[in-house]
Amino acid sequence: MQRRHLLALPLAMPFLSRAAQAQGTVPVVASFSILGDMVRQIGGERVALRVIAGPDVDAHSFQPRPADAEAVRGARLVVRNGLGFDAWLDRLVRSAGYRGPVATASEGITPRALEDSHGHNHGHAQDPHAWQDLRHGQSYVRTIAAALAAADPEGAEGYRMRAEAYLARLAALDGWVRQQIATVPEPRRQVVTSHDAFGYFAAAYGVRFLAPQGISTDSEPSAAEVARLIRLLKRQNITALFLENMANPATLRRLAAEAGVTVRGQLYADALSRPDGPAPDYEAMFRHNLGLLVPAMKGEG
Ligand SMILES: [Zn+2]
Repeated sequence: MQRRHLLALPLAMPFLSRAAQAQGTVPVVASFSILGDMVRQIGGERVALRVIAGPDVDAHSFQPRPADAEAVRGARLVVRNGLGFDAWLDRLVRSAGYRGPVATASEGITPRALEDSHGHNHGHAQDPHAWQDLRHGQSYVRTIAAALAAADPEGAEGYRMRAEAYLARLAALDGWVRQQIATVPEPRRQVVTSHDAFGYFAAAYGVRFLAPQGISTDSEPSAAEVARLIRLLKRQNITALFLENMANPATLRRLAAEAGVTVRGQLYADALSRPDGPAPDYEAMFRHNLGLLVPAMKGEG
């Protein structure tokens, strides 16, 4: 309401810019929480960030609101994942009449094909969850930093410095993830989870993720499917069963109960937690997930 008043009165514009200064001066829109964190790490105080699909929100099936179109219209840069993950943002950009730059964070990454005969495929031919490989995450950071510098050349030096520090942390985190996985005997590197979000993680870190059909969708799996999964869990001695923060837990809980396996907690896949939760940023998400995955795969606890 205030904003509308200020925009209607040119004389009031100094107030608007002062208000904007308090939370950064360069308005940037990011489609979902993980990209938002990356923009925040690189942009620092200079960026006034608006994240559209926020913490614990399923960005796959997101429905933008009118206020989101307004934010896009006022942005100097829009950052999306691409690979079909946040296609709703493209529609939002069009409907908002936004003509500014749109950075695709996954640009330059070779996408994995989705194995869609098995598991739910979000309706895409390509797996969009590239951020689950920290090397791809570093590529995201370089792409976002370049886009910020192009959209706001005056801030370029700051973006470059913060991006460099961030890239060093992500490289170290990638090494730590590999060390952690290496402590798990190879045949035990198997996980069952509720949606098919860990394909890039699996390929990068050598862990096998099973997201069997029926688990990730709203529909209940058939009795035969449940029986097949229970046999699989027992035969392979899989002890790492996980929920995800934005997926429906009912089916996986039922499967766990029938197989006599404990659900080992909640992984963060496509969305961060709220600031007071266990995965408030991209780096914390990996530490949280590994902290659950490693003992669960070993069958500890
Ligand atoms: Zn997903």
